[in-house]
Amino acid sequence: MGIYLDNAATTQLDNEVFEAMTPYLLEYFGNPSSSHQHGRLVKKAIEDARENIAGLLNASPYEIVFTSGGTEADNTAILSAVQSQNINRVITTPFEHHAVLHTLKSLEKAGAIELSILHVDQQGNIDLHELEQLLDKQGRSLVSVMHANNEIGNLNDIEQIGELCKSYGAVFHSDTVQTMGHYRHDLQKLSTHFLAASAHKFHGPKGVGFIYSSKDIKLTRLLHGGGQERQLRAGTENIHGIIGMAKALEIAYRDMDTHQQYIQSLKNRMITKLSEQIDGVTFNGNSAIAAKSLYTVLSVSLPQALTNQDLLQFLDDNHISVSGGSACSSGNASHVLNAIGADPFRDTVRFSFSKYNTPAEVDFVINKLAGLYNTIAA
Ligand code: PLP
Repeated sequence: MGIYLDNAATTQLDNEVFEAMTPYLLEYFGNPSSSHQHGRLVKKAIEDARENIAGLLNASPYEIVFTSGGTEADNTAILSAVQSQNINRVITTPFEHHAVLHTLKSLEKAGAIELSILHVDQQGNIDLHELEQLLDKQGRSLVSVMHANNEIGNLNDIEQIGELCKSYGAVFHSDTVQTMGHYRHDLQKLSTHFLAASAHKFHGPKGVGFIYSSKDIKLTRLLHGGGQERQLRAGTENIHGIIGMAKALEIAYRDMDTHQQYIQSLKNRMITKLSEQIDGVTFNGNSAIAAKSLYTVLSVSLPQALTNQDLLQFLDDNHISVSGGSACSSGNASHVLNAIGADPFRDTVRFSFSKYNTPAEVDFVINKLAGLYNTIAA
């Protein structure tokens, strides 16, 4: 199947997860809302999954609501802050995922909120003083800042942002879609009202995720219908998805330290070898700084020898799957690279790694790229 280095777009399902899911596709097919034994059995499995996820996050099971993925979790968090908390001022960053940015822009367009977008420097760092000034000036606000950016990998200090929000009485939402299952989130320590998660980013199935919503805040329901999820999210539950997600998170926490070390070593290998073998290579944002970036993502900026499209095509022709920016917006200019003022006359390749990648795969990619650039330079 070739080399897959696009794990920020999605990850391969873990075999252990698949095995945990299959009985809920074949054997335990009841509807959890049914009161008979077929229903009760799956209802219990869902509640066990919720308890397990909550336990890993040091949260209460009541604070976990299952969704169809990260997009729904982000939308629910924002709408809940605006509708159930009567908030009409929102502060965010220019590099949030569109699940956040487009939701906020549509609320702004409808006149429901005033939106402030924080400035970022050329590395993609936000200025916490600017955030504090806005919080001070604006009164009660929603702050939506992602934990790690999906294109350049920058990590934001959500512990510090959470504390700042707490001291100004702001509601804080963090899109943790790229970090859930890759870092430990301890919700007894982290001051946040909402977190968003999506199972397929940590070797779970697609189409399922969850929102963490702290017990002191009321969720607004996005979907109306049945009384599932304690009346908070209508629709028959994605049973096998939920079971798979809980298993995937359990495995992620179980193996996190080993995998983090291993994946970081693949990323370091890529940084070192690319820098040695291709003249003029640089890295976008804080991508190459281990302490400030997601260990799974490396955003590489290359001298423009080909168009970005042709470069991606070259890699695809060599059976290497990567992304040119965010896979969710491929074909369009990246709002993240624009926000950090990236040079439009350079090419960007986002490599994103997982536990299934190998050093040999990294070397293969570097050889191909170095061969291309060195031929063009000759
Ligand atoms: N937020 C971030 C940071 C993401 O990377 C993604 C997906 O790429 C999402 C939200 C949306 O998640 P989903 O595709 O599960 O709805």
